[in-house]
Amino acid sequence: MSIRSFHPPVRTLMGPGPSDVHPRILEAMARPTIGHLDPRFIDMMDEMKALLHYAFKARNELTLPVSAPGSAGMETCFVNLVEPGDTVIVCQNGVFGGRMKENVERCGGKTVLVEDEWGMPVDPNKVADALKTHPEAKIVAFVQAETSTGACSDVETITRLAHEHGCLVIVDAVTSLGGSPLEVDEWNVDAIYSGSQKCLSCTPGLSPVSFNQHSIDVIKNRKTKVQSWFLDLSLVMNYWGGGTKRAYHHTAPINALYGLHEALVLLQEEGLENAWQRHRDMHIALKAGLEAMGLRFIVPEAARLPQLNAVAIPDGADDVQVRSALLNRYGLEIGAGLGALAGRIWRIGLMGYSASPKNILLCLSALEAVLAESKASIAAGAAINAAQKVLADRGY
Ligand SMILES: *Cc1c(COP(=O)(O)O)cnc(C)c1O
Repeated sequence: MSIRSFHPPVRTLMGPGPSDVHPRILEAMARPTIGHLDPRFIDMMDEMKALLHYAFKARNELTLPVSAPGSAGMETCFVNLVEPGDTVIVCQNGVFGGRMKENVERCGGKTVLVEDEWGMPVDPNKVADALKTHPEAKIVAFVQAETSTGACSDVETITRLAHEHGCLVIVDAVTSLGGSPLEVDEWNVDAIYSGSQKCLSCTPGLSPVSFNQHSIDVIKNRKTKVQSWFLDLSLVMNYWGGGTKRAYHHTAPINALYGLHEALVLLQEEGLENAWQRHRDMHIALKAGLEAMGLRFIVPEAARLPQLNAVAIPDGADDVQVRSALLNRYGLEIGAGLGALAGRIWRIGLMGYSASPKNILLCLSALEAVLAESKASIAAGAAINAAQKVLADRGY
């Protein structure tokens, strides 16, 4: 055997996540491992909760990072809130709504699907209709930032509708947290989950979640045991919420948590609202460049996510060939289409540390160079100027 240490190449990550990790986060993760019940570690956990409150704009008691990726945060919300026989209205306008439906069914719940075309936001009128025809519904679940299409749905309106019918909401904020406006307390969101590797620019593997008092009461009054031992919040809380008497539940991913702590410190230094604005500014600059090249966005302008730019693959360009050339020649990763959109779109991420002028200029010039060799007809030489103009106008 002559296998040696693994040294990954340096890449620029402009796909649907993970995003580029800030060097301060990688440095934080290399600090000494200490015990997960060490008093100094517990101090760090208390800070983590305060930092997550800041990022979510929430003050909920039950706010913590689940020790697993975003999918586990999703599952945490469903297994704790859904009991066998419950009806859940699930909005599906891309890949992740489909996963929510799977979660409901695995909890023994019944799903009422509210479907919208991929690339469109969730239509609140359809949610209102489903609430009227299903008065037995207990929960409405939907994705704020659909990473598979780049569409942003209206959390405030859908939450208000759900509450008017006595339903709780479960919101997927994996790609939105830190990148798009999100007001958990102000909008009275009941249960929400996110991920560490998208607009927080941390390494993958942690999922911040937050539950308001209403959903905590629902969890406390369950008639059945939560089907997952690991994700049962009543047990997890003995560790995360135990104050000075924390009980062992599982070994926390210590160094990964150092990373998330640093990512949230970075967010606080920049200011949450400033981070939202930077994502918007970078999106507008990238959009100016892509459109100058002749590429077309698939999501209607009003519903576009700044952090996930989905553009149609131009006729004459080979999806796989273009993405391979970007990766091999320029070390640049962009995302392929998923599900119904596979082979039809590219997904260009501007998430967290990746949402920078430097990345935009690299992406536009590399894409233009690669497309110029294909049969696609694109306008050459205009993209960089168009993006630079937006950046200059906005003070970057
Ligand atoms: C990435 C993503 C997830 C899943 O997160 P993982 O960390 O990959 O498990 C869930 N929902 C949305 C909207 C996502 O973008």
